[in-house]
Amino acid sequence: MRYRYYGILQIGVYLFLAMTPLLVLLTGHDVHGRGFWRELAVGLGFGGVSMMGLQFFLTGRFQGITSPYGIDVVYYFHRAISLVAFVFLLFHPSILLLSAPATFGLLNPLSAPGWMTAGTIALFVFAFIVGSSLFRLKLGLGYEQWRLLHGFAAVTAVALALWHMIGVNYYLQGYVKRGLWIALAITWVMALLYVRLVKPLLMRSKPYTVESVTKERGKSWTLVLRPEGHGGMEFKPGQFAWLTIDRSPFSIREHPFSFSSSAMHPERLAFTIKELGDFTATIGSVTPGTRTYVDGPYGSFIPDRHTFSGYVFIAGGVGITPIMSILRTFADRHDLRPLILFYAGRQMEELTFREELDRLQERLTLRVVHVINCPPAGWTGEQGYIDAEMMGRYLPEGRMAYEYFVCGPIPMQQGAREALEKLGVPPEQVQSESFNFV
Ligand SMILES: Cc1cc2nc3c(=O)[nH]c(=O)nc-3n(C[C@H](O)[C@H](O)[C@H](O)COP(=O)(O)OP(=O)(O)OC[C@H]3O[C@@H](n4cnc5c(N)ncnc54)[C@H](O)[C@@H]3O)c2cc1C
Repeated sequence: MRYRYYGILQIGVYLFLAMTPLLVLLTGHDVHGRGFWRELAVGLGFGGVSMMGLQFFLTGRFQGITSPYGIDVVYYFHRAISLVAFVFLLFHPSILLLSAPATFGLLNPLSAPGWMTAGTIALFVFAFIVGSSLFRLKLGLGYEQWRLLHGFAAVTAVALALWHMIGVNYYLQGYVKRGLWIALAITWVMALLYVRLVKPLLMRSKPYTVESVTKERGKSWTLVLRPEGHGGMEFKPGQFAWLTIDRSPFSIREHPFSFSSSAMHPERLAFTIKELGDFTATIGSVTPGTRTYVDGPYGSFIPDRHTFSGYVFIAGGVGITPIMSILRTFADRHDLRPLILFYAGRQMEELTFREELDRLQERLTLRVVHVINCPPAGWTGEQGYIDAEMMGRYLPEGRMAYEYFVCGPIPMQQGAREALEKLGVPPEQVQSESFNFV
């Protein structure tokens, strides 16, 4: 409940921050005389830039912003709201040009003033940002390449847009209004500086060393990190962190991974990583002693947020990692509330942590249900995909008093959510973690 109120408050703060600069501009200004369409176009332009500026806060991984919803939801919001802001910005010149066709000449960079061309270029750069984000994979852009371009383009576009707004010199006349927008721009730059400079410096003061790299089932490796000269990192079971391995903390090559170790041991952090792409394919060759930086903890895939009488976990493949952290933590806490784990994988041999899960059943009130897509001959357990009928066979009468955690490939998450809905589980009792929200 606490998180819900905090979340609602944050939405209010967002709307206030996005709209106040616009309203302040109107104070003491005669809005009559220029016509409705022109004022609307200008309003959309100011609103769009204000919303784009706030994106620096949304993507800055600030704990206060991400904690009520989870960082994945904040990233989805960032993506959706930037489309709205872009439409506002697109309508700004479109309405102006349609309502006053004589202004078409201002699009010619050879004759237009610099501030006008700055506005035109800003719009193209915003279009590039949106297009390259929506079609990153189709354009063949690697994640790091895209991230670098995205950051530079965002700063360039916002700077050009501010130049345009100040250059037009209509609503931003006077020290107060101009000062307000410059102050706003400074807070955006400060958010960026915090993320790119202050945070890496803080991380540099708390390095970690790779203690061991262990091969696991399912093409995965567990990295154990030990803090160098500090107490480690307090985290909640189910959370994740960004790891920068064998590089400077200022490097943009960092990857998010869930903690797989018990939250009762902040001095020993474990991450279990599946070989998938460029970076993760090399994880097995990381050697003990390698210096690593950890940016975290993040995420709201946490059973500690609410108290329930039991928990159901639904994991697919490497989606077991945050759930493993939860189970290990519960075991260390001697928490004996009833737990059920549905663990889906292609083959029994590929199920990461299979043996440890068997052992955990002795320390916890835990039932593990393996769901195998390609079962071996003579397999008598569950097979195929997790659905309502299958879950119904294992869930107890009191399942409405349980909380549900789903982590795995997107189709599995969708299937699990639909199945739980069929079983009458309220959606707010279902938490899910997506490994590909970017
Ligand atoms: C919250 C969260 C928790 C995760 N936990 C785990 C875990 O415990 N174990 C595990 O094996 N995997 C986990 N992942 C997935 C892991 O981050 C990606 O598999 C890894 O970053 C892929 O990098 P790559 O270069 O090997 O693959 P690529 O082939 O280069 O990338 C594959 C896809 O992974 C995503 N990705 C790549 N680099 C990054 C990055 N720096 N930041 C964010 N996304 C990126 C992009 O969507 C990309 O298209 C998690 C992801 C998230 C978001």
